[in-house]
Amino acid sequence: MKINVSQIPFEGQVLEETISPRSLELETDEVKFRGNLRVRAIISKITNAVTIDADLSAPVRMHCSRCLADVDTDFKKKLKLNYQVPSNQQTIDIDQDIREEIILDYPVNPLCKPDCKGLCPRCGAALNEGGCTCGST
Ligand SMILES: [Zn+2]
Ligand SMILES: [Zn+2]
Repeated sequence: MKINVSQIPFEGQVLEETISPRSLELETDEVKFRGNLRVRAIISKITNAVTIDADLSAPVRMHCSRCLADVDTDFKKKLKLNYQVPSNQQTIDIDQDIREEIILDYPVNPLCKPDCKGLCPRCGAALNEGGCTCGST
């Protein structure tokens, strides 16, 4: 999302944009996107200080760290960005700052449910579904 600093009105401005996760290189081995990242930004400017309150959301798919099942969830995050903009600068590009904030917030050990029983250590069956027949549990 690029913000044209000289066009921010006195009363502030709301910008909405959808960004392809590929263009921001948001996907990792653990986190895949099922759709675009949506950004809604409330922008205000006082002299040369620009403040951006952004709401981010994106449908993502992760894998449960215990049973490896797909976990589809909506990634959501609110963030505030502040910029000091020199008077000769016309635009700010906030994409890289958004990217960093998103990647910082990826869950380390996602779970399909808080009490996921994981996989049987002997036969590998998904214990949530009671699939183990080896008798180790
Ligand atoms: Zn699980
Ligand atoms: Zn088993």
